[in-house]
Amino acid sequence: MRILVVEDEKKTAAFVRKALQAESFAVDVCHHGGDALAAASATPFDVIVLDIMLPGRDGISVLKQLRARKNATPVLLLSARGEVNERVDGLNAGADDYLPKPFELAELVARVRALTRRGGENKSTTLRVADLTLDTLTHKARRGAAEIELTAREYRLLEFLMRSAGRLCGRMMILEKVWDYNFDPGTNLVDVYIRRLREKIDANFPAKLLHTVRGEGYVLKEEG
Ligand code: CA
Repeated sequence: MRILVVEDEKKTAAFVRKALQAESFAVDVCHHGGDALAAASATPFDVIVLDIMLPGRDGISVLKQLRARKNATPVLLLSARGEVNERVDGLNAGADDYLPKPFELAELVARVRALTRRGGENKSTTLRVADLTLDTLTHKARRGAAEIELTAREYRLLEFLMRSAGRLCGRMMILEKVWDYNFDPGTNLVDVYIRRLREKIDANFPAKLLHTVRGEGYVLKEEG
C-alpha cells in the first residue's frame, strides 16, 4: 500500500510519514500542490493525504484537477481551519474524508486504513505478469495454480516490480520505493531479496520472469 502525503509543513509531513511507515505503508511526501499532481500521475497511490493550505496550488485545486483527470484515488483532506464551508468544498470537489487539524496521528492512520479498504472495493486489485498474479488487497501471490507465500517486504518488492513490469528497476530506485531509503546503505540488501523472490516465483518454473540487467538492476517481464 502506497500513500502520498501532501503537506508543506515539513515537521507535520515528517510525523505523518513516520506514523504511516510504522504501519508498514510505503509513503511518498510532496510539499507543493504541483508536485503532488505530477507524483499522482506518475505513480498509482492507494490513498492521498492532502493538506488544503499549500503554497501555490492549494489542496482543493489539486483535488479538483485529480478528479478532472479521472484519478479516483481516495483522498483524505487535512485542514488547519476546520471551517464548515471548506469541508463542504472539499467533499464537493471529490474528497473521501476530512480531518481537521490538530489531529491525533492514530486517528489519521485509522482513516487512511479505512480509505485503503474502500478503494479496494471498486478497483481491480490483481496485478498480472504472464501467469504470475498478485492480489494487492489480500497480498496473495500465485504462479499458475501454485500459491506463493511472501513476507511483508517480499510482497512490497514484488508489488513494485509488477507495477513497473517491463521497465528497468535500478537498485537505488528499489531501495527508495521498497525500503523508503533515500541513501545507499552500501549493502547487498536488494540482491538478497531479489534472490529470495526468485526462489519463490521463478525457481520451479521453466519460464523465468525476474531478470538481471548486469550492473543496472532488475526487470520483471515475460521473455519472448
Ligand atoms: Ca499546510
